[in-house]
Amino acid sequence: MRRRLAAGNWKMNGTGAALSEIESLALKHPSPSVDILICPPATLLHRAAVAAESTGIAIGGQDCHGESFGAHTGDVSAEMLTDTGATAVILGHSERRVDHGEQNEDVRAKARTAMDAGLKAIICVGESLEQRDAANTLDIIGGQLSGSIPDQSTGENLIVAYEPIWAIGTGKVPTLEEIGEVHDFIRARLERRFGEGVGRSVRLLYGGSVKPSNATEIFGVSNVDGALVGGASLKAEDFSGIIQAL
Ligand code: 13P
Repeated sequence: MRRRLAAGNWKMNGTGAALSEIESLALKHPSPSVDILICPPATLLHRAAVAAESTGIAIGGQDCHGESFGAHTGDVSAEMLTDTGATAVILGHSERRVDHGEQNEDVRAKARTAMDAGLKAIICVGESLEQRDAANTLDIIGGQLSGSIPDQSTGENLIVAYEPIWAIGTGKVPTLEEIGEVHDFIRARLERRFGEGVGRSVRLLYGGSVKPSNATEIFGVSNVDGALVGGASLKAEDFSGIIQAL
């Protein structure tokens, strides 16, 4: 049985004052029956981990470097993330693929260092609107999966998030059939590459304009094991609604 996961990606939002949202969330969900993960900006990671201590909430980063250490000004290594108390990291988000030119092989290198450091890697895949309109969605996702996911992946250290770029922060959501088609495809690809045992144990998240109002129907789609949430994860009240839908 795959344990369900609500993951919040705060992106470049939040200063110390936002830590109260983690405390409020913990009060609303004192003994959660699903996994809850908050990925705040790097500057807040350690304080967030302290705020989440002895709650059911885990803390994760939003990126790490593909090498373990060295002359990379401004970057953060996987080991540095674990040192803050983080247990997971989002990798290959489309905003990083676009803003920082990250390619599949970069994401794979990052995932390798993350897994070596004991972190769970949440690897993001997703098509642009042009790619969907050209009926290339599954080709694009297939290439991202084979290029970005390292061989050492297991059901424990890998989570895959399907985030159609055109659904991020737009209020647009694919139809439930479209979400199901991509999630079934990802599951089949994972089973083919890693075998049924591992392939079936990797959790698959949907991301893109998930809100309390649409979460229940999205979580009803086969092979959707949770969500990667942006805007609606910033406020405990909204995120709590999504957690309840799980
Ligand atoms: P929104 O939930 O704001 O659409 O963002 C989704 C996302 O990019 C999460 O990583």
